[in-house]
Amino acid sequence: MLKGKVALITGGTRGIGLETVRTFLENHADVILFGSKSESVQIAKESLKKEGFLVDGYFPNLNNYEEVLDIIKEIIKKYGHIDILINNAGISANKKIEDTTYEDFSKIIDLNVKAIFNLIKAVVPYMKDNQGGVILNTSSMVSIYGQPSGVGYPASKFAVNGITKSLSRELAPFQIRVNAVAPGIIKTDMVAALPEEQIKPLIQSIPLGRIGEPKDIANAFLFLASDMASYITGEILSVDGAARS
Ligand code: NAD
Repeated sequence: MLKGKVALITGGTRGIGLETVRTFLENHADVILFGSKSESVQIAKESLKKEGFLVDGYFPNLNNYEEVLDIIKEIIKKYGHIDILINNAGISANKKIEDTTYEDFSKIIDLNVKAIFNLIKAVVPYMKDNQGGVILNTSSMVSIYGQPSGVGYPASKFAVNGITKSLSRELAPFQIRVNAVAPGIIKTDMVAALPEEQIKPLIQSIPLGRIGEPKDIANAFLFLASDMASYITGEILSVDGAARS
């Protein structure tokens, strides 16, 4: 489904991102993954190599625009174009407001919002040069319902939806589609980090009767990145088993 396409995926070293990298490789895209550290990028590359896949990997500071731009230029030099950008790196929070510091709040906004701005800003001129592209963002079901604690996380994902909807309109004339996937509760390290008493009732309340797998989200990204979604832009696609918490 993605033959001849070059895809850049942030947070590609584990969880939803790594599964999306794998799914895109299975569908014949060239994939570049970004992670937060040299070691995690190396581990992801090695495990994909064992499965027969070769990928390039980088670990720029996503909040440093110049650093991001330098790597984008390097990728363009090697591959000629970037067709798909997936802004997937993200962190969550679950502390009550009284326990959340300004620094905690800023850390979430820096990665979940400002880093997306940096990546899109760096990549868009090349997509315009190439007469089109696809930008996909990882939102969350908390961008629709909020959550009972950890206000920085839903705040950041509401912003992701705002970026998605606004840029879909700004960039449509350039044949650049911008969509987001809003996962429900997905079996990754992010969910494993939550306390058992918080996660158990959430899973029991999912109407489809199971926790989501990273593959469920990777498949949604695959569809939205492919030409099958060529008339879809500005959408926030919920992939959550009808979870409503
Ligand atoms: P994860 O913790 O398994 O993976 C997070 C990824 O983000 C990793 O690849 C990590 O390298 C990267 N990352 C973390 N901090 C970074 C930093 N400072 N700089 C660069 N990269 C950094 O989590 P996941 O569940 O796979 O989450 C991926 C995305 O899905 C996130 O945006 C998250 O908000 C979203 N999401 C997850 C769930 C869920 O239930 N797991 C639900 C809704 C949305």
